[in-house]
This record gives sequence, structure tokens and C-alpha cells, in this order.
Amino acid sequence: MKNSLKFKDLGADFFAHIQTQRLENPSLIHVNQNLKQELNLSITDQEFLEICSGDKQLGQERPISTVYAGHQFGYFVPQLGDGRSCLIGELEGNELSLKGAGTSPFSRGADGRAVLRSSIREYLCSIAMQGLNIPTTKALAIVTSSSEVYREHVESAAIVTRVAESHIRFGHFEYFSSLGQNENVKKLANFVIKYYMPDVKQGDYLGMLREVIQSTAIMIARWQAQGFSHGVMNTDNMSILGLTIDYGPFSFMEAYDPGFICNHSDTQGRYSFERQPSVALWNLHRLADTLKTLIEEEQLKEALSMYEKILVKEYSLLMRNKFGFAVQDESDNAIINNFLELLYTNKKDYHQSIRLLSNDDQSSLGKAFDPWFKDYRKRLKIETEDPSQRRALMNKVNPKYILRNYLAEVAIRSAEDQNEYAEIDSLFKLLRAPFAEYEGYESYDSETPEWAQNLELSCSS
Ligand code: AMP
Ligand code: MG
Repeated sequence: MKNSLKFKDLGADFFAHIQTQRLENPSLIHVNQNLKQELNLSITDQEFLEICSGDKQLGQERPISTVYAGHQFGYFVPQLGDGRSCLIGELEGNELSLKGAGTSPFSRGADGRAVLRSSIREYLCSIAMQGLNIPTTKALAIVTSSSEVYREHVESAAIVTRVAESHIRFGHFEYFSSLGQNENVKKLANFVIKYYMPDVKQGDYLGMLREVIQSTAIMIARWQAQGFSHGVMNTDNMSILGLTIDYGPFSFMEAYDPGFICNHSDTQGRYSFERQPSVALWNLHRLADTLKTLIEEEQLKEALSMYEKILVKEYSLLMRNKFGFAVQDESDNAIINNFLELLYTNKKDYHQSIRLLSNDDQSSLGKAFDPWFKDYRKRLKIETEDPSQRRALMNKVNPKYILRNYLAEVAIRSAEDQNEYAEIDSLFKLLRAPFAEYEGYESYDSETPEWAQNLELSCSS
């Protein structure tokens, strides 16, 4: 099998070879078949299982774990690295990474494992983000096992196979910069430009930074428009390609609340929903700090000043699409903001409520929304598209199905308690194309039921 990891070209300072550690009785519980096909992985099911559980190498490739640093909750940690993940090879220009296949020199005393619960969440969210057109690492397969791991309780160990063009993070740059190894910073920048930024000329480090700023701003704009909270926006969880990476205590917002904090461990709300845009900018500043020997200070500043404009432009475009505004009008922002304000004061579900707009259904939102609907209908009169066309376009950006925590929890419980995986399959199907409506799945857009009101998510995974 032809297969070689470009990352290894960077040299021994950047990674360590590792040996994956086997799980007891591994079995596949779900496979992203389309992705498997895209990767041209024509091997037997048995071989596929062995590769995804770390029992067999991909071709001749020896797995590696990479070293990086990062600002965690604002504080610099000089060495983190792939403590429980490793790159196992490359197919069709995509790196394959196992998360949970055992320890590496960067495990810092932890067990190198991932629990089934968080692996299912990562697997489902990866497909949900793709469905919503939000850049993300992908997930190829999920393996469970009878190996036990210890978190707050004993849990099953699992492995998710992640797929991305590159898993390089801001933290990779920070690691070498903090050691004063500026030659390695330069080497890494050259590598990123050469392989991942076809539009940037070799040696154009400013061009590279601009690309990172651009793709990060677009990613964050889409998070904000689709109500996604990442939960742990440390610089080691920021992809150099602007992909959503490292799914932990993430949540999609339900009742609209800008101050929403999805991570129970984030007591200060550093990573609350409304702070995500400014945190990403802060993170970009930390990346820019590492490039000071390659880019003039003034140019760094100028590049960083582009961020807000790109983000606002993308966010406005998405929000205008969500409300069905194709024609520009100066009242648009006010109408959108007034609606969000009403959602907040009336504790209404973000996704369901906006989806209702396409059906012009104001009855289920209640009396408080009547004056707003009057303004909205008046505003829509200047639109030139016919209403049915407009609704169809709105329904392409307003999802019917969202990965609500309780839905993931139902799938997790049946997997953990009954070794039943049908629920994962159902969610996978709905979330990969969440704008369509599926017969027989009417209840999957329902709000959180009573029993799941107090589900808590933390960094434990
Ligand atoms: P995360 O919050 O999952 O992004 O992880 C932060 C850092 O801790 C990364 O360097 C991870 O590789 C490492 N880490 C998290 N959980 C484990 C674990 N169970 N074993 C080894 N390293 C871990
Ligand atoms: Mg991480």
C-alpha cells in the first residue's frame, strides 16, 4: 500500500515514533463508508478493524505522535503534544490519526485512552459539522472495546480514526518559538505553505498568516451562525487550516443565550459562546507572536486587523441567508438582532425558531413575537424571489436536525449499556444532511426532554 506521511519530512524534532497499544476485544461500531471510499481504502473488513484499532500498521508506516505547546485557558504550557493520538499514515492527501490508541512520550502521565462516550460525541459531531458546511476534521470509524479506563467512573475505551489534510495546530508553532528554535518555526511555516497553501508563494510567511486568519475567521463565523460552542478553544486546539478540531465538551446552543458556556469546567466562561470570535483573535495573536522573526511587526498587525472584517462579512451573509434576505436593506441587522433578543428573553430554541421562519409559522413562537413578525413580513416585501423559492433557500442554511446533547446521550447510553449502535447510525444519517426532513424521524428535532435538562459536560474524555 502506497503511503507516506509528509509530516515526517520535518525531522525528528517534530515527533516521536510510537507503538500503539492494543485494546481488548476491539470491534467497529460505525464506519463512514463515503469517506472510506474517498480514501480508496480497498481492504478487508478485518484489516480495516485492525488498522482502526491500532493493531496493524497502515502499509509500512510507523505511527508517530507530534509535539506541540499551547495556551490553555490563557496560560502557556510549554509542552503538550499528541498525548493520546498518533498519525498512522496518509491516503489521498489526508492524514489518518487514531485518537485513544495508547500513550506517547507526550502523555504527561495520562493513560493515552479515549472513552466511548466522548468518542461517540466526536464521531457524530464531525459528521454534523460537515453537514452544516463548517470546516472540520472528519471521522472515519469508531472502535469500541472491553478495555476499561478510569475517569469519574470506569468507562469503555474506544478509538476514533480522524481524517484531515493536516492536524497541525497553532501550538506546533508555539512549541518551537518558545524554545527559541526559530529555524524550526521557519521550517514548519515552509512546510505548511508548500503542502497546504497552493496560493501562497514559498517564503511568503505573511501570506501564510493571512490564510490562517482568513480560514479561522470563516470557521468562527460559521460556528456563530450555527450556534456551535467548542468549549476548549486553547491554542493547541486551533488548526492551522481553520478546521474545527478536538471535540470535547462542545455543544450546539439550544435556548438562545449569548453567554452560554458548554464546558462545565470553564467556571470563568472564558470560552462562552459570545466570546468565541474574540478568543480566536487572541489565539491568532499567539500564533503571530511565533512569527516575529519572519514577519515585520507592522505587517503582523495589519494582517490581524483583517480578521474582524472577514468574520463579520461571513457571519452577516449566513445570517441574512437564514432570514431569507437576498436584497440588502439598512433595517436588516436590526430585524435580525431584534429576533435574537426575543429568542433570548423568551428562552426559545435557536434552531427550531429560525427554521420556523421559512414556514412563516409564527403561532408556535407565541404572542411576544407578533410585532416582530409584522416588521419581518413588511421587510420581506422588498425581496424579489418568490416565497417558495426563498423558503427553499432558507431551508438550505437552517438545519432541521442538530446534534443536541440529549440525542448524543441516547446514542451513548444504548452503546454503553446495551452494545446497541442503531442510534448512532440514525443520527449519522440525519446529521450528514441536516437540512432535509426524514419520515419517521419527526421527533429528532425536539427540544431537550426533562430527563436530560441537567446533563453536564466537562473536559473529562
Ligand atoms: P484536549 O483537552 O483533549 O485537547 O487535551 C489536551 C492535552 O492533553 C493534549 O496534549 C492531549 O493529547 C492530552 N491528553 C488528554 N487526554 C489524555 C489522555 N487520556 N492521555 C494522554 N494524553 C491526554
Ligand atoms: Mg487538544
